[in-house]
Amino acid sequence: LIVFLVMALFGSLQIGLLDPICIMYRTVATAFSPSIDLAVEEVGRSLEMRGLPSTWVRGLSFSPGAKEMRIFTGAWFIGAVILTLVGMNVVIPRFFCRVLCPLGALLGFFSRFSLWRIDRDLTRCTDCNLCLTHCEGAADPQGALRKSECFVCFNCIDDCPEEALSYRFMPRSNLQPIDGKLFGRPVISQVGEVERRGPDISRRRVLLASVVGILGYPFLRLSAAVNDRNFHEKTIRPPGSVEESEFLERCIKCDQCINVCPTNVLQPATLAEGGIEALWTPVMRMSIGFCQLNCTLCSEVCPTGAIQKISIEKKLGVGPFADTGPISVGTAFINRSRCLPWSMETPCVVCEEVCPVSPKA
Ligand code: SF4
Ligand code: SF4
Ligand code: SF4
Ligand code: SF4
Repeated sequence: LIVFLVMALFGSLQIGLLDPICIMYRTVATAFSPSIDLAVEEVGRSLEMRGLPSTWVRGLSFSPGAKEMRIFTGAWFIGAVILTLVGMNVVIPRFFCRVLCPLGALLGFFSRFSLWRIDRDLTRCTDCNLCLTHCEGAADPQGALRKSECFVCFNCIDDCPEEALSYRFMPRSNLQPIDGKLFGRPVISQVGEVERRGPDISRRRVLLASVVGILGYPFLRLSAAVNDRNFHEKTIRPPGSVEESEFLERCIKCDQCINVCPTNVLQPATLAEGGIEALWTPVMRMSIGFCQLNCTLCSEVCPTGAIQKISIEKKLGVGPFADTGPISVGTAFINRSRCLPWSMETPCVVCEEVCPVSPKA
């Protein structure tokens, strides 16, 4: 969390790489839903071959009515990341939440000020340790409760045979027994209640994380792929996008824009196109799809303003926007060594026929 926060201070928003909400949106958009669609398509086709109705199966598709399967560059990698994170739970319970999640770390920091927490009654607890058995956060409810790691799952309360645990407002965690008694009852537990108020972070670790964050920013920004002098030629942003440096500061790689794009032209950027800083940000890949003239969906769903909300009129440069002209994301060029009339003197007008703007570009 500290690494990400320090980098954000310099203007590099990398929190989306590990933010659970971004991971969820990104995985559903580029890996999960296309996989479901592929399975639905295969089952539907198989039913049709057997003369059975397939409409109900096709209704389960994430992109009903689409003529072609949606494809996404690097979807396997995004899928592999989520599978790895889920698989690590077998090795370390709640691995992502406890080790990686920057949101969890932030909430853990503020949880030190929470007024409610798990409270252990020392006059009932027999130190049997059964409450540790199913503790989701390894928060040690039997001894020095780690508030920042407690998920408030209440498993410990269910597991305690002595009903010594409860969830209380302003718990009596810091009360010290007097003459071996609390509230007039003898203390049974031999493990004193010492509440750990915050995450166990030493000053040295904070310093190390800050240095990594400070060094991480120039390492990322000096990448030839994303610095202002050398943007990758394939890093074409959706219409309405802000200037590239600001785009990288705003985009949280949630890929909601990619999910709503009806033509599949929006793709997650690869490492080769933009390095880590632009990884999984949306780029337009014209070899896969095209930008529909009467569509502004990506600009409507972007939560950060990396793609500014635009109207159809503004996109096309008509009506009140006639003076400013249409939004241009790039200009098509003719490769004369491959164009039939130029290279082989063969008549061809396909580009002129499909060009949708008037007058023909
Ligand atoms: S509420 Fe859940 S996470 Fe918190 S101490 Fe109890 S078992 Fe552990
Ligand atoms: S709180 Fe309950 S379950 Fe946990 S050690 Fe004490 S008696 Fe056992
Ligand atoms: S405007 Fe529509 S078609 Fe064009 S990139 Fe955005 S979502 Fe896709
Ligand atoms: S441009 Fe907006 S919607 Fe698209 S990934 Fe970035 S933040 Fe998400």
